[in-house]
Amino acid sequence: MGRIRILDDHIANQIAAGEVVERPASVVKELVENAIDAGADYIEVSAEEGGLSLIRVKDNGAGIHPEDVETAFLRHATSKISTGKDLFAIRTLGFRGEALPSIAAVAKVECRTSATDDGLGRRILIEGGKIVDSGDEAVPRGTEITVRELFYNTPARLKYMKSVQTELGHISDYLYRLALAHPDISFTLRHGSNVLLQSLGNGDLRQAIAAVYGTSTAKAMIPVSGESLDYRLDGFISKPEFTRANRNGITVTVNGRVIRSPQATQALLAAYHTLLPIGRFPVAVLRLKMDPSLVDVNVHPSKLEVRFSKEAELMEIVRSAAFTALTGMVHIPSGAASR
Ligand code: ADP
Ligand code: MG
Repeated sequence: MGRIRILDDHIANQIAAGEVVERPASVVKELVENAIDAGADYIEVSAEEGGLSLIRVKDNGAGIHPEDVETAFLRHATSKISTGKDLFAIRTLGFRGEALPSIAAVAKVECRTSATDDGLGRRILIEGGKIVDSGDEAVPRGTEITVRELFYNTPARLKYMKSVQTELGHISDYLYRLALAHPDISFTLRHGSNVLLQSLGNGDLRQAIAAVYGTSTAKAMIPVSGESLDYRLDGFISKPEFTRANRNGITVTVNGRVIRSPQATQALLAAYHTLLPIGRFPVAVLRLKMDPSLVDVNVHPSKLEVRFSKEAELMEIVRSAAFTALTGMVHIPSGAASR
């Protein structure tokens, strides 16, 4: 008798959750990215106890059709890609069809959604991967997903969670970057009764920077832009006299996706060269745009790391655009010239 069996869906989802849902901030990331993919221009995030007791994401996007609501919580269920070919030109933030089933496997999730303006919608309640309630409900167009008691059924993961402040810090850090990546979307972040972010969503990147870092930082920023045949860059970088003690003020986005890019950070720092004191770093928002076929986002479930097809060319654009912006405003001592 053979000993190998196929795991049931619930265990498979719990395993996927281990990768996709590392902490409360991962839930916020996945839900907000879904809202962006749904075309929302207003996204409200509420959290309690660092997101461990409650995370709620409300959007005014396209909503989920009533007949799709249960399917959306199934593994590998997605409306964003359909063929293998689509994988090589991802235009949305999501595509793996993993987030909702993974989150629902390790929390108590309530989804209220409507895809129409007639006030009719649907509500579903899923606890630990099991549907415990569903029905029609009056809901305005858009989606509201509430995640309660994250990791309530995975005590090992729950024990690993850090303090409320640390978990909240991860949530706000990610949302700040998303607000910078999408100045055309109005983001609100509340923790209990505190409002931690409120971006206007009027499309003005400098105003989004002001919402995230305050007006004095926004005023200390200079515009950068550059392009080649394949790539386009725009954004803002801080004047050399305006520095911070770490790299956290550097945000890099690719086609609206917040990514980790040590290479782009390195290229940016190379442009400042001796203008920055040792151990000090600029604030920057670098927005890269390219044909989706030139970037592979399917590197890791969290999609924070990507691979560029012509990385050296892209990094040279970053470095030279930043260098040009900086030399346009200050006298660069000789020797700090472009390398
Ligand atoms: P993915 O985003 O990779 O497609 P998810 O599990 O995150 O997978 O979501 C599954 C599907 O549910 C999405 O493809 C989308 O059709 C739908 N969906 C999820 N969240 C929203 C939302 N906020 N608004 C509209 N549709 C949504
Ligand atoms: Mg998704």
